Amino acid sequence: MTAATQEKMEFQAEVKQLLNLMIHSLYSNKEIFLRELVSNSSDAIDKARYESLTSIESLGEDKTFRIKVSADKDKSILRISDNGVGMTRQEIIQNIGTIASSGTKKFVEQLSGDQKKDMSLIGQFGVGFYSVFMVADKVILTTKRLGAAEPAMRWESTGDGSYTLEEADKQDRGTELEIHIKEDEKEFLEDYRIRSIIRKYSEYITHPIYLADKDGKEEVLNDKAPIWRRSKSDVTKEQYGEFYKHISFDEEEPLAWTHNQVEGALEYTTLLYIPGKAPFDLYNPEKSNGLSLYVKRIFIMNDAKELLPGYLRFVRGVVDSEDLPLNVSREILQKNAVIQKINKAATKKVLQLLETMAKEEKDKYQKFWKEFGNVMKEGFHMNWENLDELKRLIRFESNKTAAGEYVGLEDYVIRMKAEQKDIYYISGESRAAVEHSPHLEVFKAKEIEVLYLIDPIDEWVVQSLADFDGKKLLNVAKGDLDLGELTKEEKKSQKQAEGKYKDFMKDFEEKTGDLLKEVRVTTRLKESPCCLVADESDMGANMERILKMANQKVTASKRILEINPDHAIMQGLQKMYAADPANPRLKDWYQLMVDQALLAEGSEIKDPAGYVAKVNTFLTDMLAKA
Ligand code: ADP
Repeated sequence: MTAATQEKMEFQAEVKQLLNLMIHSLYSNKEIFLRELVSNSSDAIDKARYESLTSIESLGEDKTFRIKVSADKDKSILRISDNGVGMTRQEIIQNIGTIASSGTKKFVEQLSGDQKKDMSLIGQFGVGFYSVFMVADKVILTTKRLGAAEPAMRWESTGDGSYTLEEADKQDRGTELEIHIKEDEKEFLEDYRIRSIIRKYSEYITHPIYLADKDGKEEVLNDKAPIWRRSKSDVTKEQYGEFYKHISFDEEEPLAWTHNQVEGALEYTTLLYIPGKAPFDLYNPEKSNGLSLYVKRIFIMNDAKELLPGYLRFVRGVVDSEDLPLNVSREILQKNAVIQKINKAATKKVLQLLETMAKEEKDKYQKFWKEFGNVMKEGFHMNWENLDELKRLIRFESNKTAAGEYVGLEDYVIRMKAEQKDIYYISGESRAAVEHSPHLEVFKAKEIEVLYLIDPIDEWVVQSLADFDGKKLLNVAKGDLDLGELTKEEKKSQKQAEGKYKDFMKDFEEKTGDLLKEVRVTTRLKESPCCLVADESDMGANMERILKMANQKVTASKRILEINPDHAIMQGLQKMYAADPANPRLKDWYQLMVDQALLAEGSEIKDPAGYVAKVNTFLTDMLAKA
């Protein structure tokens, strides 16, 4: 090896930025660098094991996977080595010299002055390796790729913007790190300190981690079974939390978890976590990952989407099966009967966990729903099997909840009026848009709870959520409202009004052309003169709006105008009509009423300028009389 073969390379700009942050940060939790490096070694071993499944001879003599850590206090060097896959020259440049994943790029873009916050993101976006420069002033990495003919490589950097690469004479596969510890970080050379950090963060790593003392005597730091293989009573809350952080790259505590060891026809273990926060790529179907799959304790793959239905893609955790072959591939997973059974059972477990949370820890469940409610709602279309559970889990805002708080259908039913038969909802663009809708007037007056369906997906949800507990879910802006006993009195006066308004309503219908399907008297209004409703079988204004926004062609269905017989405007118009059915102003009045009803429900009016002109004419008249 001569100096002539040594190449000097620049780090990518984003890496420089990251390194700068690592070196100058005041982050107090520097010890996590060890967690990051050990977990890289563990990943590298997983990869080697996976690659050797098809050609076991590629491992040669060295078939026992392990990670070794040792400290040389005299030289201030910490060494970590593994017999994992190692890297080719090209892989080093790609993995260590650049930030390849778009996730990490995003992280770098997000960097702010608030370093504590920035640092809490370490690992989340795969910046793990660079954290070594929090404690090191020089790092030498020597690595040889499994199965590659090319020689080993030596990479060296002081973290200042560039690194060097040259050939090395390492013969066995894997990666060795020589970490030159900074003067004021010497604590990381103490065996007791190394032992305690690795015990804390890495005991669930499935490969043995050895710590060698200065005489070369080795001790295993993680000799316990992986956490999911232990019985529940042997795992503390902290250990569950720590393991979650390890697999999710989430610094926050999980909201809840469920750990199940199943024996019988199928034998498998699941350890499933509900995160506290939605990941930024929750709605990216490509990125949203699933669970990690193990077979007989051996890591097989991350992101095994087949293990849970898509609407539970936020769940993190591990499935370890005794019944799958070790060389199971993604293609096999898709049709595998064992996987399908595990999927079914795991789905039930997650839904049960959520139901328990919803019952026993309502605040926590509200938090959960805020983060993941919209994803859960996708389940109504994908998961007929668990429709009953989903119906119990779904939450909506309502006229009886504060903004951002929710009610479930079970609680809705408990709060129902004694005489109330159905469950009511109103759908619209936002809470503000539905809150003052004329359609709610009678419900407010009678103190009946109405659910607010204000997410676009809700319109699809109600199609599967047609009923709950024997009660129908009814749209308050659709069909002929019948509150039964609750509006007995109103119904009586409605009958009377129908006689009085009959001819007027016919005239209204005729003079508005084919705008309306029908004009009829209603009991649903208390303050407004009129409102528009959709026929039972028609689409509804909100659904039309959503489809239009999605650039879909919709033929707007004709609406029904309902009038409030007790309102002064309607009474006045009826008189105007009775005095002279040919009065030319009636037509303008009718149009004005329809436009106002459209505005009140948050719909667009066809001719806003025409509307304003009409209003101005009426205002001018009024002022002339004043
Ligand atoms: P992450 O582990 O999140 O991908 P890192 O910055 O820690 O991010 O590592 C970057 C990449 O470098 C890894 O994905 C892996 O491909 C490679 N790498 C790091 N350490 C090792 C190792 N000990 N053996 C083989 N490859 C490694």
